[in-house]
Amino acid sequence: MNPKELDKPRDTPNAAEPMPVLFVGHGTPMNAIEENAFSKAWRDVGEALPRPKAVLCVSAHWETWGARATVMEKPRTIHDFGGFPQTLFDVQYPAPGCPWLARQTKDVITPLAVGLDEEWGLDHGCWSVLKHMYPQADVPVIQLSLDYTRTGPQHYALAKELAPLRHQGVLILGSGNMVHNLRRLAVKSGGDFNQPFGFDWALEASALFKRLIDGNRHQELADYPSLGPAVQLAVPTPEHYLPLLYALALKQESETVTYFNDQAVGGSLTMTSLIIDSAARNAQHAKRIP
Ligand code: ZN
Repeated sequence: MNPKELDKPRDTPNAAEPMPVLFVGHGTPMNAIEENAFSKAWRDVGEALPRPKAVLCVSAHWETWGARATVMEKPRTIHDFGGFPQTLFDVQYPAPGCPWLARQTKDVITPLAVGLDEEWGLDHGCWSVLKHMYPQADVPVIQLSLDYTRTGPQHYALAKELAPLRHQGVLILGSGNMVHNLRRLAVKSGGDFNQPFGFDWALEASALFKRLIDGNRHQELADYPSLGPAVQLAVPTPEHYLPLLYALALKQESETVTYFNDQAVGGSLTMTSLIIDSAARNAQHAKRIP
């Protein structure tokens, strides 16, 4: 046996029911340490979903030249933000890495070479959510970066290559915000970032996104710059939107979508999140998760 095979999971690949797929709107880093409706829903989702063998997270906060997957055994907790209280900088999320999953991710993505990365770690797009979903930090985690040389349709196509990982107990988690325009944020300094409020254009873009998601109109979502002025305001830069495409690309036709945290905050962000799963399991999730 190749020594690299030793740390692979023992289940037969492709035998299991596929793991659900998640897109989470992460919002302010303070959600990592606040008990609020959003972080409570993350905890509920962690309890409702089958326990994964590992998590592959595509976070808005890791963009690279060419795609990269973290391969280290012990990813560091990255505090990639400024102007927040020391208690947030003190947070550690010591989940182990998952070298077999990084190698497997490299193997399944065939159209391009995915680099194996020893430098990154877990950024707040990833750990702020997982800290609530898996508070014991006992589920191994890797991150897959966003290659900023790729277009929306190219990200969507790349994401489809990850499908076999769902059959190996891997939870694929896209973490961003569908609507995310910090320049338009209507929160005064020291004010409540999670104030429930959305500008008309933010609500319009959010409604359009959900309509297209519900209609499985993924090509239009991948080609988001063509969706009109409200979406251009909602997605001024691609990084918080693209993780949504990674989740949608993995949806099988028979699967359904459950939304949660479907709330605009601060005028120019939406926390809208979704679970892609079988219709039967989604019916259960919808009862448990607000
Ligand atoms: Zn963010």
